[in-house]
Amino acid sequence: MCCIYGVGWKMGEARIIDGKAFAAGMLGEIAAEVKGLGFQPGLAVVLVGEDAASQVYVRNKAKQTVAAGMKSVEHRLGADVSQDELLGMVAALNADESVHGILVQLPLPAQIEAAAVLDAIDPGKDVDGFHVVNAGRLAAGLPGLVPCTPLGCLLLLKAVLGDLSGLEAVVVGRSNIVGKPVAQLLLRENCTVTIAHSRSRDLAGICRRADILVAAVGRAEMIRGNWIKKGAAVIDVGINRVAGEGGKTRLVGDVAFEEAKAVAGWITPVPGGVGPMTIACLLRNTLTAAKGR
Ligand code: NDP
Repeated sequence: MCCIYGVGWKMGEARIIDGKAFAAGMLGEIAAEVKGLGFQPGLAVVLVGEDAASQVYVRNKAKQTVAAGMKSVEHRLGADVSQDELLGMVAALNADESVHGILVQLPLPAQIEAAAVLDAIDPGKDVDGFHVVNAGRLAAGLPGLVPCTPLGCLLLLKAVLGDLSGLEAVVVGRSNIVGKPVAQLLLRENCTVTIAHSRSRDLAGICRRADILVAAVGRAEMIRGNWIKKGAAVIDVGINRVAGEGGKTRLVGDVAFEEAKAVAGWITPVPGGVGPMTIACLLRNTLTAAKGR
């Protein structure tokens, strides 16, 4: 296993889970496996419109796909594309034998129903794991393609804690792309899982029970140090841009990092924690899809 926590750890402080290093190790392993496959897995990414953040994600995905020895195919469509045109492109990619993974970058423009597009992707090529068949398989405890960010959270937790069986896990957030699948994955590992959300009462009290606390809310530093059980493993999925020094902005998570670090046993930083795991897990899913063809 590669290095999982950074240097400079002080007694009594949480160990920092180095997602960047862990993801780099995973990418190396994926590239080695791709070399031995005898064919080149292909990942097709469909980008609709000009969303600046999406363009950055897609560029990073393409770069890392190529670095892993896979074929990267990019399709760019105008923001005014019709749903039928987009569905036509998905159908063509479903039929293309050189494409093993298909990802339609979200968000999509208002005239397109995202669920209809995601559910048109062949579930065997659904490397984002958002297709209702893959969501159902995860809920039923069956094998399938699992959403990338939740898978990244699980891999980090297993790397630092080993067996998760019997641990009390609290997931704050219940979205289909993060909260729910993280909870399903932790349940599959035999954790006792609580899912909290905006209607939960006594959120701080619920969080204090957690041996594993996963924050996937999208509210800057909402989870305070005194909400965290001593020694807990804290996985911060949140990415929030806040005002920084000198008129600049900076990224923070959903957890007040400095406070939490003084109490937790393990913690992911933002940036450099869960974020880098997402692309690594996307390529892992593409490899899984290619092997299962
Ligand atoms: P959503 O907005 O879809 O879901 C947020 C969840 O948080 C909802 O379930 C909501 O509850 C809950 N919530 C909101 N406010 C509160 C509150 N005050 N108390 C308790 N729960 C609350 O977000 P996502 O799941 O898509 O993303 C969550 C965060 O993770 C974001 O910051 C996003 O940027 C980040 N992210 C990071 C990724 C990465 O690669 N690291 C990938 C994907 C997301 P309710 O359901 O009741 O409304």
